[in-house]
Amino acid sequence: MSALKFFTVFAFGLFGFTFGLSGRFWHITDMHWDPTYDLSNKPDKVCASSGNRPASNAGIFGDYACDSPWKLIHSSLSAMKAISPDPDFIVWTGDDTPHVPNDQLGEEAVLGIINNLTYVIKQLFPNTKVYSALGNHDFHPKSQLPGAFHNIYNVTSEIWKDWLDLESQETFREGGFYTENLLNRKGYRMLVLNTNLYYDQNKLTQNIEDPAGQFTWADKVLTEAANNNEKVYIIGHVPPGFFEKKRSKPWFTAKFNEQYLKLIQKHHSVILGQFFGHHHTDSFRMIYNSNGSPISTIFLTPGVTPWKTTLPGVADGANNPGIRLFEYDTETLLVKDMVTYYMNLTFANTGKERWEKEYRLTESFRVPDASPLSMHKVLEHIANDNCYLQKYYEYNSVSYDLTECNKDCRVDHICAAREVDFSQYENCLEKEGALFISGGLLPFLTVIMSQMLTKYL
Ligand SMILES: [Zn+2]
Ligand SMILES: [Zn+2]
Repeated sequence: MSALKFFTVFAFGLFGFTFGLSGRFWHITDMHWDPTYDLSNKPDKVCASSGNRPASNAGIFGDYACDSPWKLIHSSLSAMKAISPDPDFIVWTGDDTPHVPNDQLGEEAVLGIINNLTYVIKQLFPNTKVYSALGNHDFHPKSQLPGAFHNIYNVTSEIWKDWLDLESQETFREGGFYTENLLNRKGYRMLVLNTNLYYDQNKLTQNIEDPAGQFTWADKVLTEAANNNEKVYIIGHVPPGFFEKKRSKPWFTAKFNEQYLKLIQKHHSVILGQFFGHHHTDSFRMIYNSNGSPISTIFLTPGVTPWKTTLPGVADGANNPGIRLFEYDTETLLVKDMVTYYMNLTFANTGKERWEKEYRLTESFRVPDASPLSMHKVLEHIANDNCYLQKYYEYNSVSYDLTECNKDCRVDHICAAREVDFSQYENCLEKEGALFISGGLLPFLTVIMSQMLTKYL
């Protein structure tokens, strides 16, 4: 072997191993721009999205009772540009409009907001491909996305025209979903789903077996992907499974949750990652096969909006604004790592616009990568070690809620991450709860309570 040839092989091997296969992409979600945000108003009137809750710490970058002011939207996108200006692509999973009653928005207002956010993303990343999914708030009336042609699908496909090929525009107009070769590379695929069709708040699709024929279509796309040895990423807005901040709160209707899970279990060998939003929190969902082996992970990226949810039963559901950079193997699509960046809203409102690294997955949870096996290990760490649980819990609200994650909190988070299936989730609650009951005060209290009830009923 000549010296030059040796050098070439060596250099290729070295770069191939350390640099050549590494790519990056951003995931941004749930920007929820509130155009009414105005600091000159009284605290309960700073923003329409607070619903008259006082925005008592309102500042230029927002308030935990409000959706995002324009300054926060712009700041989050500018942070992406400053941290990693040339990603391979961007994943954007929707929810652009504020949390206000339907009568304060309208089709035109919703489309205007989608248009403005698209415009600013294109201004900052003119040469970057964006894969964009609709959220339940990117519609009027909210969450009522139909499984058929609609003007909002039609106009949005026009707004996103530069990011969609002709076939994508066609399927998008008919149901809000599409698929394309990832970055036009043969053998790599992006599947953008409209899971708002499965949302239990969506009254239009409840009695339809397969709204917009999306399941049949996705099954076909994934079957063909397997036949062509393709590797696939799936993105969408509303994820299957349960909300970790409210016990037994799923998003999908039961039958759709089951169908989604079956789809992933059938095709997991070609699916290298799933990326969703909607929660506004930072979490993940594991999918296992019938032998209990981890086969797929749904990564839930936190939102930009800090808005404290009004969902009954959630004590303090606000978060700091977050954005996330994924590192992946461009040959295998293995998710290698993820780094979450955030803005401490309280600090930023003192006048210092600052985005900082919150954590890197492999560093904080001591795993080699973000494969399903590694994410299963992350979950085991969280389930079995209180230090990891507490760390995960603080990241869950993007370092907003720093209170202790107690035993009930532990069960809620672990079972939501471990079980996407409805009945398995309930089994998990029982199993994890039972451990607590047998070791805690509950058996004693249960006896006392039942005695009291017998006495007074
Ligand atoms: Zn949202
Ligand atoms: Zn949503």
